[in-house]
Amino acid sequence: MKKKVTIFGSTGSIGESTLDIVKNHPEKYEIVGLTINTNYEKLLDQVSIFKPKIVSINNPDSYKRFKEISKNNDLKVVNGNDCYDEILDYKTDIVVAAITGSTGLLPVVKTAERGIQIALANKESLVCSGSLITNIAKKNNSMILPIDSEHNAIFQVLDSKNRSKVSKLILTASGGPFLNREDDLSHITPEEAIKHPNWSMGKKISVDSATMMNKGLELIEAHFLFEMPEKQIEIVIHPESIIHSCVEYDDGSILSQMGTPDMRTPISFALGYPDRISTNVEKLNLGKIKKLTFYEPDFKKFPCLELAYDSLKLKKSAPTILNAANEIAVDAFLNKRINYLSIPKIIEKTLNKTSISNVNSIKDVIEIDLCAREIANDMVCSRKF
Ligand code: MG
Repeated sequence: MKKKVTIFGSTGSIGESTLDIVKNHPEKYEIVGLTINTNYEKLLDQVSIFKPKIVSINNPDSYKRFKEISKNNDLKVVNGNDCYDEILDYKTDIVVAAITGSTGLLPVVKTAERGIQIALANKESLVCSGSLITNIAKKNNSMILPIDSEHNAIFQVLDSKNRSKVSKLILTASGGPFLNREDDLSHITPEEAIKHPNWSMGKKISVDSATMMNKGLELIEAHFLFEMPEKQIEIVIHPESIIHSCVEYDDGSILSQMGTPDMRTPISFALGYPDRISTNVEKLNLGKIKKLTFYEPDFKKFPCLELAYDSLKLKKSAPTILNAANEIAVDAFLNKRINYLSIPKIIEKTLNKTSISNVNSIKDVIEIDLCAREIANDMVCSRKF
């Protein structure tokens, strides 16, 4: 029987990579639902190829345009933020959660509540809701398969029978486009920041890679996903992005997963789990690569890393606040309202200005997120940070 797949965020980079894998295995997978924000033209193409049963378009204008053009009477078309229950009413075996930012939180919660397997690309949902979401998933037997490449690597080499013998998780980081820039970074443009040396990704995550907040968010993601204290999670710069992360054991062994930097590998791992399926990903040629390099991260040059560690030490709502402030700051930078170096300043000040509270429910997460956004946004508008 074919595995039924629904993709939340099908026109983004992860969504497209997922569809590429599905296209190559028509005997194994079928698409049930697709959701998008605005790009209805791309969705029209996807619908004609993959023939889903239901699609959702968040942007009202895009929804209207899609409805005008699409002549497919068999296709259910919905819109708005409340549509996830309707989408999940169509039986699906796995949801690929690929919406960027904390807007991806509710769809992940709804999926977990229904006990459906989640291929999780949306790291922000774990960062802002922490163990709440992993507990909802556990309670409902919804398995979370990480497709963030680092966490996918750890998942692949984490020996579940020897969890107590794990001494450290090592997250590798490419260092982003500014790893070796020594000049003043205050004049960095959004165009420069989104040019990632190894990975092809969306704008928000590319800026996060440039500031290294991406690794900070991944630190928090790993902490909640693998229940590992922050002291036992190390970040190492590995510019080639060949080793995607490692697990160190008490006996001194370090196990790692390697591969060409291509998101189709972790996505195919999640889609195929517990089996492995073939992909068109270029295979590694170690003889040609010759050497791999590693460095300790520069916490002064990339203050977002320290902020992420600090938020885990503060616990409670601090990671939620950090994530919200980062989303506001990155958006302001992409819209040229603040400069590159203001991003960590806004995050730090938002953390200092917002009271750290307990997070007991998803409702708390949404309230804390909104409050932190307001504070960060006021800073952007008043230019006081
Ligand atoms: Mg990653």
